Amino acid sequence: MKVYLVGAGPGDPELITVKGKKLLEEADLIVYAGSLVNPRLLEYAKPGAVKVDSAPRTLEEIVEIMVEYARAGKVVVRLQTGDPALYGAVEEQKRALKAYGVELEWVPGVSSFLGAAARLGYELTVPDGTQTVILSRVAGRTPVPEKENLEELAKIGSTLVLFLSVDKIDEVVAQISRVRALDTPVAVVYKATFPEEKIITGTLADIAQKVKEEKINKTALIFVGEFLNPPPTRSKLYAPDFTHGGRRESD
Ligand code: SAH
Repeated sequence: MKVYLVGAGPGDPELITVKGKKLLEEADLIVYAGSLVNPRLLEYAKPGAVKVDSAPRTLEEIVEIMVEYARAGKVVVRLQTGDPALYGAVEEQKRALKAYGVELEWVPGVSSFLGAAARLGYELTVPDGTQTVILSRVAGRTPVPEKENLEELAKIGSTLVLFLSVDKIDEVVAQISRVRALDTPVAVVYKATFPEEKIITGTLADIAQKVKEEKINKTALIFVGEFLNPPPTRSKLYAPDFTHGGRRESD
Protein backbone atom coordinates (compact mmCIF):
# COMPACT_ATOMS: atom_id res chain seq x y z
CA MET A 1 0.00 0.00 0.00
CA LYS A 2 1.25 3.44 -0.83
CA VAL A 3 0.54 7.14 -0.91
CA TYR A 4 2.08 9.34 -3.60
CA LEU A 5 3.81 12.35 -2.09
CA VAL A 6 3.73 14.87 -4.91
CA GLY A 7 5.51 18.22 -5.13
CA ALA A 8 3.00 20.75 -6.44
CA GLY A 9 5.58 23.24 -7.63
CA PRO A 10 5.64 26.91 -6.60
CA GLY A 11 2.15 27.92 -7.71
CA ASP A 12 1.69 28.11 -11.48
CA PRO A 13 -0.32 24.94 -12.27
CA GLU A 14 1.90 24.31 -15.30
CA LEU A 15 4.95 24.00 -13.07
CA ILE A 16 4.04 20.59 -11.67
CA THR A 17 5.91 17.63 -13.19
CA VAL A 18 4.28 15.50 -15.89
CA LYS A 19 4.30 12.61 -13.44
CA GLY A 20 2.70 14.72 -10.71
CA LYS A 21 -0.08 15.90 -13.03
CA LYS A 22 -0.76 12.36 -14.17
CA LEU A 23 -1.17 11.23 -10.58
CA LEU A 24 -3.55 14.11 -9.84
CA GLU A 25 -5.64 13.02 -12.82
CA GLU A 26 -5.77 9.43 -11.55
CA ALA A 27 -6.22 10.16 -7.85
CA ASP A 28 -9.29 9.05 -5.90
CA LEU A 29 -8.17 11.09 -2.90
CA ILE A 30 -6.07 14.28 -2.93
CA VAL A 31 -4.92 15.66 0.40
CA TYR A 32 -3.49 19.09 -0.31
CA ALA A 33 -1.85 21.79 1.76
CA GLY A 34 -4.53 24.45 1.26
CA SER A 35 -2.54 27.30 2.75
CA LEU A 36 0.09 27.19 0.00
CA VAL A 37 -0.92 24.90 -2.87
CA ASN A 38 -2.62 26.71 -5.75
CA PRO A 39 -6.23 25.43 -5.76
CA ARG A 40 -6.15 25.52 -9.55
CA LEU A 41 -4.05 22.35 -9.43
CA LEU A 42 -7.13 20.54 -8.14
CA GLU A 43 -8.77 21.15 -11.51
CA TYR A 44 -6.61 18.32 -12.84
CA ALA A 45 -8.56 15.87 -10.65
CA LYS A 46 -11.10 13.52 -12.23
CA PRO A 47 -14.80 13.99 -11.51
CA GLY A 48 -15.71 12.46 -8.17
CA ALA A 49 -12.21 12.63 -6.71
CA VAL A 50 -12.27 13.52 -3.02
CA LYS A 51 -10.24 16.62 -2.14
CA VAL A 52 -9.24 17.28 1.44
CA ASP A 53 -7.47 20.39 2.71
CA SER A 54 -4.86 19.36 5.26
CA ALA A 55 -4.48 22.88 6.71
CA PRO A 56 -7.23 22.73 9.36
CA ARG A 57 -6.57 19.06 10.22
CA THR A 58 -4.26 17.26 12.64
CA LEU A 59 -1.60 14.80 11.53
CA GLU A 60 -3.74 11.97 12.90
CA GLU A 61 -6.78 13.04 10.86
CA ILE A 62 -4.75 13.40 7.67
CA VAL A 63 -3.13 10.00 8.13
CA GLU A 64 -6.41 8.31 8.98
CA ILE A 65 -8.13 9.34 5.77
CA MET A 66 -5.10 8.52 3.60
CA VAL A 67 -4.82 5.06 5.18
CA GLU A 68 -8.54 4.41 4.68
CA TYR A 69 -8.31 5.10 0.94
CA ALA A 70 -4.97 3.32 0.49
CA ARG A 71 -6.38 0.21 2.20
CA ALA A 72 -9.34 0.26 -0.16
CA GLY A 73 -6.90 0.11 -3.09
CA LYS A 74 -7.53 3.72 -4.15
CA VAL A 75 -4.98 6.11 -5.64
CA VAL A 76 -3.98 8.57 -2.92
CA VAL A 77 -2.00 11.76 -3.54
CA ARG A 78 -0.55 13.92 -0.80
CA LEU A 79 0.07 17.24 -2.55
CA GLN A 80 2.57 19.61 -0.96
CA THR A 81 3.90 22.94 -2.09
CA GLY A 82 7.17 23.26 -3.99
CA ASP A 83 9.26 20.17 -3.38
CA PRO A 84 8.38 18.04 -0.34
CA ALA A 85 12.05 17.68 0.60
CA LEU A 86 12.22 21.25 1.91
CA TYR A 87 10.31 22.22 5.07
CA GLY A 88 7.72 19.63 4.19
CA ALA A 89 7.01 18.03 7.60
CA VAL A 90 7.21 14.75 5.71
CA GLU A 91 9.06 12.65 8.25
CA GLU A 92 6.18 12.62 10.74
CA GLN A 93 3.72 11.64 8.02
CA LYS A 94 6.06 8.94 6.77
CA ARG A 95 6.36 7.44 10.25
CA ALA A 96 2.64 7.60 10.97
CA LEU A 97 1.77 5.98 7.63
CA LYS A 98 4.39 3.32 8.09
CA ALA A 99 2.75 2.28 11.33
CA TYR A 100 -0.21 1.25 9.16
CA GLY A 101 2.03 -0.44 6.60
CA VAL A 102 1.62 2.39 4.06
CA GLU A 103 4.73 3.62 2.19
CA LEU A 104 5.32 7.01 0.59
CA GLU A 105 6.34 7.22 -3.05
CA TRP A 106 7.96 10.59 -3.74
CA VAL A 107 7.44 12.66 -6.86
CA PRO A 108 9.61 15.77 -6.71
CA GLY A 109 8.44 19.29 -7.52
CA VAL A 110 9.90 22.64 -8.48
CA SER A 111 10.72 24.27 -5.17
CA SER A 112 9.42 27.79 -4.67
CA PHE A 113 12.98 29.11 -4.47
CA LEU A 114 13.58 27.92 -8.03
CA GLY A 115 10.24 29.30 -9.19
CA ALA A 116 11.19 32.62 -7.63
CA ALA A 117 14.72 32.56 -9.14
CA ALA A 118 13.12 32.10 -12.55
CA ARG A 119 10.88 35.09 -11.96
CA LEU A 120 13.85 37.16 -10.79
CA GLY A 121 15.73 36.01 -13.87
CA TYR A 122 19.07 35.56 -12.15
CA GLU A 123 21.33 32.58 -11.70
CA LEU A 124 21.87 31.88 -7.99
CA THR A 125 25.49 30.94 -8.57
CA VAL A 126 27.80 33.54 -10.09
CA PRO A 127 30.67 32.96 -12.55
CA ASP A 128 33.79 34.28 -10.83
CA GLY A 129 31.66 34.85 -7.75
CA THR A 130 29.91 32.67 -5.22
CA GLN A 131 29.44 29.03 -6.12
CA THR A 132 27.31 28.30 -3.08
CA VAL A 133 23.62 28.69 -2.26
CA ILE A 134 22.44 28.43 1.33
CA LEU A 135 18.79 27.60 1.96
CA SER A 136 17.68 28.36 5.47
CA ARG A 137 15.16 30.11 7.71
CA VAL A 138 15.11 32.00 10.97
CA ALA A 139 13.61 30.40 14.05
CA GLY A 140 9.88 30.69 14.52
CA ARG A 141 7.67 28.15 16.22
CA THR A 142 10.19 25.66 14.84
CA PRO A 143 13.67 26.19 16.30
CA VAL A 144 16.88 26.54 14.27
CA PRO A 145 20.14 25.19 15.74
CA GLU A 146 22.21 28.02 17.27
CA LYS A 147 25.20 27.16 15.06
CA GLU A 148 23.06 27.95 12.00
CA ASN A 149 22.21 31.50 13.04
CA LEU A 150 21.99 33.94 10.15
CA GLU A 151 25.08 35.88 11.05
CA GLU A 152 27.15 32.70 10.76
CA LEU A 153 25.50 31.68 7.48
CA ALA A 154 25.81 35.14 5.94
CA LYS A 155 29.49 35.45 6.83
CA ILE A 156 30.82 33.39 3.96
CA GLY A 157 29.29 35.69 1.39
CA SER A 158 27.32 33.09 -0.55
CA THR A 159 23.84 33.47 -1.99
CA LEU A 160 21.32 33.16 0.83
CA VAL A 161 17.70 32.11 0.38
CA LEU A 162 15.38 32.29 3.37
CA PHE A 163 12.08 30.47 3.64
CA LEU A 164 9.47 31.08 6.35
CA SER A 165 11.15 34.27 7.54
CA VAL A 166 9.58 37.31 5.88
CA ASP A 167 7.46 38.09 8.96
CA LYS A 168 10.77 38.61 10.78
CA ILE A 169 12.37 40.80 8.11
CA ASP A 170 13.76 43.27 10.70
CA GLU A 171 15.54 40.49 12.54
CA VAL A 172 16.81 39.01 9.25
CA VAL A 173 18.25 42.34 8.10
CA ALA A 174 19.77 43.13 11.51
CA GLN A 175 21.60 39.81 11.69
CA ILE A 176 22.90 39.82 8.13
CA SER A 177 23.96 43.48 8.33
CA ARG A 178 26.46 42.61 11.05
CA VAL A 179 28.55 40.73 8.50
CA ARG A 180 27.53 42.02 5.05
CA ALA A 181 27.65 45.52 3.54
CA LEU A 182 24.46 47.57 3.76
CA ASP A 183 24.37 47.91 -0.02
CA THR A 184 24.14 44.11 -0.45
CA PRO A 185 21.25 43.46 -2.85
CA VAL A 186 18.11 41.79 -1.47
CA ALA A 187 14.94 40.62 -3.22
CA VAL A 188 11.73 39.46 -1.64
CA VAL A 189 9.44 37.37 -3.82
CA TYR A 190 5.85 37.01 -2.64
CA LYS A 191 3.73 34.18 -4.10
CA ALA A 192 6.19 33.43 -6.88
CA THR A 193 4.47 32.30 -10.10
CA PHE A 194 0.94 33.01 -8.73
CA PRO A 195 -1.09 35.79 -10.37
CA GLU A 196 -0.70 37.78 -7.12
CA GLU A 197 3.10 37.58 -7.27
CA LYS A 198 5.06 40.60 -6.05
CA ILE A 199 8.78 41.18 -6.39
CA ILE A 200 10.40 43.74 -4.10
CA THR A 201 14.03 44.61 -4.64
CA GLY A 202 16.37 46.73 -2.57
CA THR A 203 19.36 46.43 -0.30
CA LEU A 204 19.93 45.45 3.30
CA ALA A 205 19.47 49.16 4.07
CA ASP A 206 15.93 49.56 2.73
CA ILE A 207 14.31 46.17 2.10
CA ALA A 208 12.59 45.89 5.50
CA GLN A 209 10.79 49.18 5.02
CA LYS A 210 9.73 48.26 1.47
CA VAL A 211 8.41 44.86 2.53
CA LYS A 212 6.37 46.41 5.31
CA GLU A 213 4.96 49.05 2.97
CA GLU A 214 3.74 46.22 0.74
CA LYS A 215 2.33 44.46 3.83
CA ILE A 216 4.06 41.21 2.95
CA ASN A 217 4.24 38.94 5.99
CA LYS A 218 3.91 35.42 4.60
CA THR A 219 4.37 33.18 1.53
CA ALA A 220 7.54 34.94 0.49
CA LEU A 221 11.20 34.16 0.05
CA ILE A 222 14.11 36.43 0.89
CA PHE A 223 17.09 36.35 -1.49
CA VAL A 224 20.35 37.98 -0.44
CA GLY A 225 23.57 38.38 -2.36
CA GLU A 226 25.58 39.77 -5.19
CA PHE A 227 23.94 37.34 -7.59
CA LEU A 228 21.26 40.02 -7.93
CA ASN A 229 23.89 42.40 -9.27
CA PRO A 230 26.28 40.09 -11.07
CA PRO A 231 29.61 41.24 -12.48
CA PRO A 232 29.83 41.31 -16.30
CA THR A 233 32.17 38.33 -16.42
CA ARG A 234 31.44 35.24 -18.47
CA SER A 235 31.56 31.63 -17.45
CA LYS A 236 34.43 29.53 -18.71
CA LEU A 237 32.00 26.91 -19.91
CA TYR A 238 31.34 28.55 -23.27
CA ALA A 239 34.61 30.41 -23.62
CA PRO A 240 36.49 29.71 -26.91
CA ASP A 241 39.73 28.87 -25.05
CA PHE A 242 38.15 26.51 -22.52
CA THR A 243 38.39 22.87 -23.51
CA HIS A 244 36.85 20.15 -21.45
CA GLY A 245 36.37 16.96 -23.32
CA GLY A 246 34.02 17.96 -26.09
CA ARG A 247 31.74 20.35 -24.16
CA ARG A 248 29.71 17.47 -22.90
CA GLU A 249 29.33 18.61 -19.33
CA SER A 250 30.04 21.61 -17.17
CA ASP A 251 32.88 20.37 -14.96
N1 SAH B 1 8.46 22.73 0.24
C1 SAH B 1 8.26 24.11 -0.09
C2 SAH B 1 8.51 25.03 1.10
C3 SAH B 1 7.50 24.87 2.21
S1 SAH B 1 7.74 25.95 3.55
C4 SAH B 1 9.13 24.47 -1.31
O1 SAH B 1 9.90 23.66 -1.79
O2 SAH B 1 9.00 25.60 -1.79
C5 SAH B 1 6.68 27.28 3.15
C6 SAH B 1 7.49 28.50 2.76
O3 SAH B 1 7.95 28.33 1.42
C7 SAH B 1 6.73 29.80 2.76
O4 SAH B 1 6.69 30.39 4.04
C8 SAH B 1 7.56 30.63 1.82
O5 SAH B 1 8.74 31.08 2.45
C9 SAH B 1 7.97 29.60 0.80
N2 SAH B 1 7.05 29.54 -0.36
C10 SAH B 1 6.27 28.53 -0.74
N3 SAH B 1 5.63 28.83 -1.90
C11 SAH B 1 6.04 30.07 -2.25
C12 SAH B 1 5.80 30.93 -3.37
N4 SAH B 1 5.00 30.57 -4.36
N5 SAH B 1 6.42 32.13 -3.40
C13 SAH B 1 7.26 32.51 -2.41
N6 SAH B 1 7.53 31.75 -1.35
C14 SAH B 1 6.94 30.54 -1.27
